[in-house]
Amino acid sequence: MNPSLFQLKQEMCEVGSRIWQKGFCAGNEGNHSLRISDDRVLCTPTGLSKGFLKPDMITIVDMDGAQVDKENKYKRTSEILLHLAIYKKRADVKAVIHSHPPHATAFACAGVPIPEGVHPEAEVFLGKVPTAKYTTPSYAGLGESVTKLITAETNTVLLGNHGTVSFANTLMDTYYKLEIIDAYCRILLLIKQIGKVNFLSAQEMTDLLKVKAAFGIPDARLKCAPSGCVGVDNEAYVSTFPDTTTAASAACDCAGGTVTRTSAAPNAQPVTDAAFEALVKQVTDQILAKTGR
Ligand SMILES: [Zn+2]
Repeated sequence: MNPSLFQLKQEMCEVGSRIWQKGFCAGNEGNHSLRISDDRVLCTPTGLSKGFLKPDMITIVDMDGAQVDKENKYKRTSEILLHLAIYKKRADVKAVIHSHPPHATAFACAGVPIPEGVHPEAEVFLGKVPTAKYTTPSYAGLGESVTKLITAETNTVLLGNHGTVSFANTLMDTYYKLEIIDAYCRILLLIKQIGKVNFLSAQEMTDLLKVKAAFGIPDARLKCAPSGCVGVDNEAYVSTFPDTTTAASAACDCAGGTVTRTSAAPNAQPVTDAAFEALVKQVTDQILAKTGR
């Protein structure tokens, strides 16, 4: 049985509540939408917290962004043009969530691309996450800045100095993409606090992408992974560590499999073991001195 319009609006409210409870949007930030037919999209209203939405607050727009439920006193979000640009680019996409999850937004504001080959969950469920150049929010150009980066496999894009946009074929799956990108970015920031990172080897990355393919999730990087060239953007993340002593990862110019350039080993350790041990000793000495032992 197909869900009723009311049930779909309820789902919009439920997801809004989760977004707010997770702290992904403060105040009235963020917006999400659900494509319910070829020319109709449910979308969140402007100027309201996503944490306390009621079904009658959810608006309906056409594929040009015109609000069609004219009797609704709530007005559609001004960011709907970004959502519509994604729906027009990818017919398989049925839901879009734009949000400001703090850990992922920190990467977007620092201009540091999301590194690859660190955590299996992120590789399988997000894949490659591109970063769009900053564009003024609600400007029409925001949509194009995102859609030009989207391939058939993309489900999450960082918006430079702004936040994230996630998209998938259900609203709940889209919400999970949002949760995963922020959890991954939180892990990345904690790794930086520890001071060293261990990237998956070319073999480990290849094996992981084969498992992903077996799940039915294609990833074009599988052609490239055996050459150790997944992670061309990792250097920017590693360079934020206080003592970078080795290159971030292998890099290549391969466009879908033909490797033309590689460099450095994939198992980068930005802090040497000796430097790390010296740091541990220094901290231990300080603790012992304070406790008088
Ligand atoms: Zn925003």
